[in-house]
Parts: sequence; C-alpha cells; structure tokens
Amino acid sequence: MNKKKLLNILGKKDLLEINTKNSLVRNLSNENLIETDLIELISNLVNHNIWQLIKEITWEAEIKAWDLYIVGGVVRDLFLVNKNKKILTQDIDLVVDGNNSPLNIGAGIEIAQTIKQRHPEAKLVVHYDFKTASLSWNEDKRYGSIQIDIATSRTEIYPYPAANPKVQLASIKQDLSRRDFTINALAIKLTSPERGKLLDLFMGLLDLKKAQIKVLHPNSFIEDPTRIYRAVRFAIRLNFNIEANTIQYIYDATKNEIYDKINSEISILPSLTIRLKNELRSILGTNCWRASLELLSYFGALNYLHPKLTLNNKVLWQMRYAVRFIKYVNPHYKIVQWLLILEILLSSIPQKERNFVATNLQLPSESIKRLLEIQNINKKINQRLSSYCKVSDKVKLLNKFNNVELILVAAQSKKEIRSLIWQYFTRFSKISSPLSGHDLKKMGYLPGPKYKKVLSILLDKTLDREIKTRKEAEVIVQQIMARRLD
Ligand code: ATP
Repeated sequence: MNKKKLLNILGKKDLLEINTKNSLVRNLSNENLIETDLIELISNLVNHNIWQLIKEITWEAEIKAWDLYIVGGVVRDLFLVNKNKKILTQDIDLVVDGNNSPLNIGAGIEIAQTIKQRHPEAKLVVHYDFKTASLSWNEDKRYGSIQIDIATSRTEIYPYPAANPKVQLASIKQDLSRRDFTINALAIKLTSPERGKLLDLFMGLLDLKKAQIKVLHPNSFIEDPTRIYRAVRFAIRLNFNIEANTIQYIYDATKNEIYDKINSEISILPSLTIRLKNELRSILGTNCWRASLELLSYFGALNYLHPKLTLNNKVLWQMRYAVRFIKYVNPHYKIVQWLLILEILLSSIPQKERNFVATNLQLPSESIKRLLEIQNINKKINQRLSSYCKVSDKVKLLNKFNNVELILVAAQSKKEIRSLIWQYFTRFSKISSPLSGHDLKKMGYLPGPKYKKVLSILLDKTLDREIKTRKEAEVIVQQIMARRLD
C-alpha cells in the first residue's frame, strides 16, 4: 500500500462528523471504564424519549429472562462523541439473546411484536429469515424519525463467497463474531444481571483509541465485499486509518479470482449488488463522497460494480460540478445527490452494458431511463442550443428536459453549453410574462384559448428583450388582438 497516497486521499476529506480528539474514548482507560456507569452514559447521550422506549424494550426482555444488548453504531459513537453532545442517531440496533428459547420466530421478533401492540403508531417490519424485526417512527411528536432494529442473536454462514448468508440462532458472543470491524463489534448489556457491562471481545475499544478500522478475520472481505465499502466509509467519516493487515485483506479480496467470478455471476448475486447500492447511498449522500470514491477506486473496489468502471479526473470534475449545480437548483439536494454522482460514475460504462448494471443495482426506474437516454439528450441539446440565436428558442428547448437531465448534460458538456444551462437555471427560467391573464381581462379582452397564445408571445418577446416595460407589453397585446379581429 502506498501510504503517502492513502494519507493524501484521507487528507482531502471535507467533513469530519466526529472529533475523536475530545472524545470519551481518549480519556477512558480500562480501569475507569469499569467504574463508568455505561447505562447512565447512554441515557444521557441518547434523546430522553428514545431512551424511554429502549427501557420499555429492556423490560420486555427482562420479563422473559432474555438478555438484551445495544450494539453497533450507537455503542461506537457513544465512545467517540464529546461528552456534552447528544448522539443524533436515527438508527438503534438491539440484539436479544433468547438463551436457547424454543421460539421459532426468534426472540427479537417476539419483543418487537409486543412493543407494536403498545405503540400502534409505529411501523413494524419483520424479516423472518433473519429472525429480526424493525420498528420505525416517522416524524413522530415524541420520537421524531427513528428506526429500532431488534435482532435475535445469530451467526451467518456464507455458503460461498459474497453469497447471501444463511442464518442460525446463536449466543451474543457468536453474534458479535460475525460483525464487520472491531469498533462495530462492541455491545453493552441492557438487562440484569451485569446490566451496563461492555462486551468487547475483539479489543474494539483499543481500536477506537488508535482510531483504526480493523476486521475480525482475514476472509471478511471475501465473505462480504460490501465490507470494503464500509471500511472506506468509516475511515473517511471518522478520520480513522485502515489497519495494515486489513488493507492487505482488501487487496486479497479485490485481486482474488472471486472478484472475476462475482462480475461474471453478478446476476445470481442480486443481494450483493443491493447491499453495495445501500452503502453507495450512504457514501455519496454526504460531503465525504469524493474522498471515499477515490479510496474505493484506489483499492480497485469500484470494479465490483463493473470491471470497466473508471474514476479519472474528468469524471471527478463532472461530479463536483453536478453537486454544486444541484445545491443551487434543488435545496433538498441530498435526496438526489447520491444518484446523480452514481449516474455520472456509471456513464463511464459502455452504453450497452449500463442497463444490466443499473438494473442489478435496482436503481429507481427514472434513473435507469436517464442512464440509457442521457447520451441522446446530450447530443440533442449540444447540437441545437448553440445553433439557436434567440433566448426564447433556447428556453423552449431546455424546458423539454427535467432539472436532473439538464444538470447531467451541463456537467458533461463544454463550457459554452454549461454556461447557457446555468443561465437558464439562474435567470431565464425565472423570467415571466409582464402581463397576466388577469391583466388581459382588465384590458377588456374576453377570456379564451387565445390568452395562452398571447401570454406565450409576451414571454418570448420579454426573453428576447423586445419588450422591456409593461406599457410595451400592452401595445403588443393590442396589436395581436387587432390582427385576430381582422
Ligand atoms: P451508521 O449507522 O452510523 O452508518 P452502523 O455501524 O450503525 O453505522 P449499520 O449499517 O446500521 O451501521 O450496521 C449496524 C451494525 O451491523 C454495524 O455496526 C455492524 O456491527 C453490523 N453490520 C452491518 N453491516 C455489516 C456487514 N456487511 N458485515 C458485518 N456486520 C455488519
């Protein structure tokens, strides 16, 4: 691994959500960890109402003499955030160890169903195959938007590399052993006895202190290549290093022959591509998208999407341009930012193979359609836009396409076309006719189909700067109407 290049890439990140320097983990030694009441710590850092919900779930587990743990991101972030800041999570992961309960449906599902009865406003989704259930609240008065996943502790067996894992009930220890990184394999016990105890089987706390991403075993990335995307996502987001052996395991996975096998058999592994898409959504929807993509490309991991995918300076420039554009055009740009970046990335795949890749990723249908049509749209706009002299003709042409199509064309065109599309968004599309239908009525003309025609002529003339004042517009209306009356 070229460390200089890696550091360089990591150095380019533009957002650090968590500042590890002031975090709790810096000040915790193993001795004072034992004295720290972790339950009090979580209850202070998580929103009060959400904590009440977690307590309700804990109570249900205690009644059944099952063990309940809080795991994953919340536990990790608990040690990373500054003591005075709340954890702003929308995703809480709980695991129930049913202690060999004979239940078929899984202890996690059983608890989630009981909670749903008490909270009918919550949405319950059950995954029987995985013995998990999730309860979610959307813009709720008390809880805001939150999802609580309640899983039954389990192991996952991968019948062959990158396959959909088979699930077996297991103890919490086995459950933690199937996780991606040491820092994500921490659990805190919520039920008694040993309430508040930290389970750290893989020295995750030490890796949090060292600020490093480390896998639990050498085959981790071969089992599930999504973990490469996750390693990059966490490294960039948390400003962590990827541990040296873990980097080697990434290379082993991307160079291993399984890599070619996945590409040739991608159609029989839809679940892998969907998991990759979900990671891409998380990566490309943040301000860290660029550094993460560069690191993924550096590791050769973009090739899990397609072997011919390239991330060169030209493509990166187009992405940056499109992101700037969308921030201006769409205030809720985060909703589509990830898709826009992904579409630009996928544009480097030969046209005839794009449909296959986009369909495998299960992208939204409008996105797949755009990927297939964008080359033609681009050609049409580029050919016609520079040949039109009148602004009104240019506007009429651009009105035929939606904002995302125009942004993609702008990002992939030469300067002249780009600035015309920019002017369209910033100026021309905001210009309206100086008179309204109401004004025409006041001028004494009876409402009818000709109103639309007259207003459209007025708009064209305004765009072409043939009309500058209201008075001039009224004269034009009189001329058109007189002609019509003849
Ligand atoms: P965040 O939600 O902040 O991105 P998170 O760690 O909560 O971080 P999730 O994707 O919600 O991320 O996953 C929850 C937990 O599930 C992780 O902490 C990890 O323990 C486990 N996990 C998720 N994906 C994988 C995977 N591909 N392989 C192994 N374990 C995983």
